[in-house]
Amino acid sequence: DVDVNESVDFASLLLSSAVREGLTRQGFKRPSPIQLNAIPVGKLGLDMVVQAKSGTGKTCVFSVLALEMVQLQNPAPQVVIVAPTREIATQIFGTVQGIGVSLKPAGLRVGLFIGGTSLMQDKAVLRGSCQVIVGTPGRLCQLVQSDILSLGAVRLFVLDEADKLMEESYQQNVNYLFSRLPPSKQVAVFSATYPGELDEMLSQYMRTPTMVRLDTSNVQLLGIKQYFVICPRAVIADVIDVKLNLLFKLLERVQFTQCLIFCNYQDKCEMVCDALKERGYEAQFIAGTLGQDQRNRVMKKLKLFQTRLLVSTDLTARGIDAPNVNMVVNLEVPQDCETYFHRIGRAGRFGGYGAAVTLAVEGVDDRRFGFLALSGEFQAKRLPPLELTPVD
Ligand code: ADP
Ligand code: MG
Repeated sequence: DVDVNESVDFASLLLSSAVREGLTRQGFKRPSPIQLNAIPVGKLGLDMVVQAKSGTGKTCVFSVLALEMVQLQNPAPQVVIVAPTREIATQIFGTVQGIGVSLKPAGLRVGLFIGGTSLMQDKAVLRGSCQVIVGTPGRLCQLVQSDILSLGAVRLFVLDEADKLMEESYQQNVNYLFSRLPPSKQVAVFSATYPGELDEMLSQYMRTPTMVRLDTSNVQLLGIKQYFVICPRAVIADVIDVKLNLLFKLLERVQFTQCLIFCNYQDKCEMVCDALKERGYEAQFIAGTLGQDQRNRVMKKLKLFQTRLLVSTDLTARGIDAPNVNMVVNLEVPQDCETYFHRIGRAGRFGGYGAAVTLAVEGVDDRRFGFLALSGEFQAKRLPPLELTPVD
């Protein structure tokens, strides 16, 4: 388990009884170290940069802060929580509602605003009271621009997966949202990784933020064993055949409960999923190209343990919390070491144990994996070559 201090419970964080009740109902007995360290700072109203490893309970930190600060008699949006993917936003929405369950009779309303759903529905939700807003940057901007959502009364602005949200594709939208916030508000950002000069970039949004960082010397999770397999390209001509062959061998030999298989490109996911099915496995795939209803269905199957194998792009590399996932296979070497850490972090939620295996083909991506390991300062153990016979 995550290193929880047995002598400290949520009561020592001086939370309202409604929030404490919600935490208990969620099955949270004791705060994790990041909850213990970040919640008091947040409650003081300070801007903050929070960093802690994957799966250590960061969502609960900002959910609690949001619920502690909302004034329920005021129907206006007071907290905005931004996440990079619809799936993460949906998950956060569930957590805020779960911890806030006892505040519902008193008038708490939480809204989820993501792309791929009807704007009319969003409009209807925002006509009523809605104190906590959870959403993706694109949809939130759309709502603000068309005057459906007003940010004038917001007092807490949260960025989850903050480093991702600072990437070019999101930054403009995040900037826009920020420009529409009142001057006086609290800003809190969360992530497991903060590469390079990000601090400077993030501090534009904040007033001398307090850094709440745990174990930054090593973002790796001790519970996750890391392996890689290098296979000679000569065995079979086509790289994808080599990889599929390796994947089948792995799935046969390694005992796992639930497994996430990452590909770098959307079209590959469906192909790998089909190959798994042909081989007799029940499998699902998810990628941004799927419709939102289908994406929701697949995520539900993953979380309810109705599928053991999910093939995915980096859409689910971050933030996604599925407690039964204990194996991650990188069918392709990820683009950077942050993505690598996030991907493998899916396999060890809240201190759980898991394994991550990266497949690298000699002369194709083995060197890149070596480079990633060096720059990310992680060590993966080489697996003995799995015997390679052509797939029949
Ligand atoms: P992070 O965002 O840090 O990667 P999450 O917020 O997704 O991690 O939490 C990971 C898992 O840990 C979730 O399943 C969550 O329900 C669980 N969790 C969080 N806090 C606690 C706690 N105090 N006690 C027990 N489980 C917790
Ligand atoms: Mg998270």
